[in-house]
Amino acid sequence: MTGLESRAGALLSIDLAAIVANWRTLRDRAAPAECAAVVKADAYGLGAAEVATALATAGCRVFVVATVDEGIALREALTATSPGGMEPVPSPPAIFVLNGAPSGAQMEFVRHGLIPVLNSLADVDSWAMLAEMLGAQLPAVLHVDTGMARLGLPPDELARLAAEPDRLEGVRLVLVLSHLACADEPDHPFNHRQREAFVAARANLPAAPASFANSSGIFLGTDFHFDLVRPGAALYGVSPVPGGPNPMRPVVRLDARILQVREIDSGTTVGYGATFEAGRRTRVATVGVGYADGLFRSLAGRGSGWIGDRRVPLVGRVSMDLITFDVTDVPEALAQPDATIELLGDHQGVDALAAAAGTIGYEVLTSLGARYARRYEPTGL
Ligand SMILES: *Cc1c(COP(=O)(O)O)cnc(C)c1O
Repeated sequence: MTGLESRAGALLSIDLAAIVANWRTLRDRAAPAECAAVVKADAYGLGAAEVATALATAGCRVFVVATVDEGIALREALTATSPGGMEPVPSPPAIFVLNGAPSGAQMEFVRHGLIPVLNSLADVDSWAMLAEMLGAQLPAVLHVDTGMARLGLPPDELARLAAEPDRLEGVRLVLVLSHLACADEPDHPFNHRQREAFVAARANLPAAPASFANSSGIFLGTDFHFDLVRPGAALYGVSPVPGGPNPMRPVVRLDARILQVREIDSGTTVGYGATFEAGRRTRVATVGVGYADGLFRSLAGRGSGWIGDRRVPLVGRVSMDLITFDVTDVPEALAQPDATIELLGDHQGVDALAAAAGTIGYEVLTSLGARYARRYEPTGL
């Protein structure tokens, strides 16, 4: 880390070219289905504006967020960077909002060209009522629940909608979607049960394109692709096929700067709770990154960093702003103040850090803190 970046405790590098390459891999695998990009939660913590701009340039036409505020911010980011000059102006990318349109925010959808996901019969009615009030056809995505029991029309509401199709008057259904509960377990019988429920649900609805697969769902086979796939995590390097080789390119690097190195005697303890006691003369390197930055407390006794090709075990507890590593076995010249310890990178990907923390790559990414210096590696597009 050099210059301005060295002020931060760590440098988070985000490889936009790798994100674009991952999107193309998923798109090619899902073709002829279209490939959207899920950029909710600030693109899983990596920066929705930067990620979506790169993917829109690469040809992605459909983006998915969770909330209306994410949708508004994304629309602004995509509008600010759309090509000008003599280029033919392409139609703006579609933005779907998974958590739907809260009654106080319906007009925001119209104003910013956002498309709500309707998650209940009540959502359908209130969107249809707005369409009637405005005397317009309003686009919407319909979510049918096939086994998550979170959002989406449950079977009884779906049956009522099928019996009373007029309730959709004024609503232009651009997509019917459902979401898999067990896509990361390819042999789980639930995947096929949900698929059958989804096919049956569509048969009772007006004709509309369908979307079923998240990242892992794309790898369940073409039967799961339908018309549009919705990957999130795999774009950002999380493996969609846990247990097998990861087909995605790594996207993030996290290099933490060593603040201080000290030598302690055998018997000296390190950190809160005095949980680690040196069993030999030990050199301890402290870096300025902690659980407030997304390095989970559960990494105590299990986590590692890397200096060059050498693994350095995390010792003691994870503090809010600091963690400590045993660097005794690394040449002194490499473990000095201002040298860096790799927390995410070639030696330890997002999934490996997650496994050490007892969680999933999704949570590692979305927990990455706001205090890092960030560097975006350009796409080259
Ligand atoms: C988050 C989400 C996705 C993306 O899932 P990944 O597992 O990250 O690919 C797709 N669809 C819905 C409805 C989601 O909530």
